[in-house]
Amino acid sequence: MNPFDYRRASSVEEAVALAKAPDAAFIAGGTNLLDLMKGGVTTPAVLIDVSRLALADITELPDGGVRIGAMVPNADAANHPLVRQRYPLLSQALLAGASPQLRNKATIGGNLLQRTRCYYFYDTAFEHCNKRAPGSGCAAIDGYNRNHAILGASSSCIATNPSDMSVALAALRATVRVQGPGGARAIPMQDFHRLPGANPERDTTLIPGELITAVDLPRSAFSRHAHYLKVRDRASYAFALVSVAAALDLRDGMVQDAALALGGVAHKPWRVPQAEAMLIGHPLDQSALQAAADAALLGAHPYEHNRFKLALAKHAVVRAFSVAGGIA
Ligand code: SF4
Repeated sequence: MNPFDYRRASSVEEAVALAKAPDAAFIAGGTNLLDLMKGGVTTPAVLIDVSRLALADITELPDGGVRIGAMVPNADAANHPLVRQRYPLLSQALLAGASPQLRNKATIGGNLLQRTRCYYFYDTAFEHCNKRAPGSGCAAIDGYNRNHAILGASSSCIATNPSDMSVALAALRATVRVQGPGGARAIPMQDFHRLPGANPERDTTLIPGELITAVDLPRSAFSRHAHYLKVRDRASYAFALVSVAAALDLRDGMVQDAALALGGVAHKPWRVPQAEAMLIGHPLDQSALQAAADAALLGAHPYEHNRFKLALAKHAVVRAFSVAGGIA
């Protein structure tokens, strides 16, 4: 591991000021960052410890929504009564991630920032990785690409975002609150992560020095009919090959509103408003779900080792909505 300076921030303002140092990085739970540092993938010169900031509360918002502080551990968020009752989709997604030990340590802010699990990104013996070394190429495109993207990839990078939580937050239309050198701002979840384009080294739209302070969930009608389906190689402690966050506002068998986002298929949680719109105003049945699943995967481009993801993702969309709507 490279030598680094360690600073502990006592306020959000101090953390943002400290982050002006060259090659500074925030650290809270450290469950991803420390692995990256040990492997030489990331080499920050200064670590700014934000784990003790007063950002660890879950509170009700005046409009009926809920705010989750950035330092809330994943396990605490998953098991909080407000989250379990109003946002079971988020609770399920959080509990599908990692292991109990990691969920106790990892924070909500850190989960939003966890980096791809592309094998070539983590193994510095591979020279060609545009995300780790911009301009070096992409070993995955013509290499082993089983866990890679089938949507929204570029000729520079075909990596996927590994976060289960982020898929649920995208479906639930959450907002990420940040504080940085330019002040505070709120970023809609669908704009928080970015597609790789020509700059896959950037995972998010955060400006350098910005610190995540909270995630806001809007008032939701998806509390009764929600299901997070994660398909993976083993039953626990594995990243998604494909995941689906599906939720419905169902009244008298008619879909009033629908929420859909896919994980494991793109560089960001893949929210599909067109597929959601196809379900709204109709009874929930298998043919409607199949049409929505087809729409959700429009434009998919699989690679040599992940062709199975296309059919798998469509089946997962149908299955997740069927379970959510009680017609499975
Ligand atoms: Fe690197 Fe992205 Fe290619 Fe993986 S897919 S090797 S992260 S550039």
